[in-house]
Amino acid sequence: MSTFLNTLSDGKVMIDKVFKAAVACNEAKTKYGDIVVDATLGTLFDENGVFVAFDSVWKTYETIDKIQKAKYASSIQGNPDFNEAVYNWLFDGLDIRVPCEIIASPGGAGAISSTMKNIINPGETVIIPNLGWGPYKTMALECALSLTKYNMFKDNHFDIDNFKETLSIVMEKQHRVLVVINDPCHNPSGYTMTNDEWSQIITFVNELSNKGPVVILNDIAYVDYTNNGSVWKKHFEKYNNINKNVMIVIAFSCSKTLTAYGARVGAQIVLTKDEKQLNDFKNAAIYSARSIWSTVNNSAMKLFSTIMNDEKLKKEYLKEKQLYIDLLKERSDIFVNEAKEIGLDIYPYVEGFFVTIKILNDLEKQELNLKLQENNIYTVETDGGLRIAICSVPKRKLKGLAKRIKNIM
Ligand code: PLP
Repeated sequence: MSTFLNTLSDGKVMIDKVFKAAVACNEAKTKYGDIVVDATLGTLFDENGVFVAFDSVWKTYETIDKIQKAKYASSIQGNPDFNEAVYNWLFDGLDIRVPCEIIASPGGAGAISSTMKNIINPGETVIIPNLGWGPYKTMALECALSLTKYNMFKDNHFDIDNFKETLSIVMEKQHRVLVVINDPCHNPSGYTMTNDEWSQIITFVNELSNKGPVVILNDIAYVDYTNNGSVWKKHFEKYNNINKNVMIVIAFSCSKTLTAYGARVGAQIVLTKDEKQLNDFKNAAIYSARSIWSTVNNSAMKLFSTIMNDEKLKKEYLKEKQLYIDLLKERSDIFVNEAKEIGLDIYPYVEGFFVTIKILNDLEKQELNLKLQENNIYTVETDGGLRIAICSVPKRKLKGLAKRIKNIM
């Protein structure tokens, strides 16, 4: 029988594991109250369990004129003052001027999906990490792309050999490569690559690009929560060493940076030494923007540029954000140290919003998750484990949690 939906869309059902776990957890909270541990959502909550919306950010929003809130953006590419503020926010600390194009997007999600759509032909393959953010998969399928995964860890370090092998195989097959790297503060492991690992990646993709175009999609959704402040951003200097047949697309998001998840603003920052290709990419991205979401939230772009262009506000914002970076460090120290002490196997954590317990067998993972729920502990199932969103669990509930989980196992 024929269907209304086309062959690509027929049978599509969005099962978002994070939201599903959060709904189950909310029901438990209604029944059992404060004893429930809610480690499901990737948004910041304070020590009293209250959703964090930075004062410095949201009081600034109140100063934005209603006309700005009502208006369309001034350009499909993004408001020029927003794009400039994004450039400065990411590249200000560098000694070099980075030639790039910036295209505003609705969050990091818009930047990632638009890049997949415009780089890879339908039916071809995009490469993602085997331990990664769930929507990478649905975004690829939405564009009729296949997936191949590189292995994230070997002996508690980034598995560079598998990364190289995976990219080489795809290059042999389709003569172009798009690979997603969610660094720093990977979701869900909390890993951040070392300088050396990044240098090896750049050297490798430069070599590989002799066989065809290579695009690295660097998803930096959590870049503003590294333990070393803006020092990590020095990493961008390495992108100056790419060959002409390599392109970098940085997917930036204001969701975590400003605690502005619902405002839906982010950007693609595109770098390549090939000026014509840079221009072609920009044109294609603007075309996709206009055809899919049209323009990005005007007042949210205004919010970002207002804060970043006012020294006093920016200082206040940085101070407030630092409180939560420190809090994440304290929370992760509690969980990670305890996990080590009692032998709970977790992926190598460095910093950020999440820690993930390693469970390779899917059935074991599902069973453990159910058992944890029976004990009022709510986590999220990811490929290869159970994710604990330390961003949303207060310290008092993290104390003893690793031990409780180990005992339940
Ligand atoms: N990338 C990762 C790894 C994420 O965890 C998220 C949000 O949870 C995003 C990108 C993009 O988020 P948004 O579209 O809200 O900017």
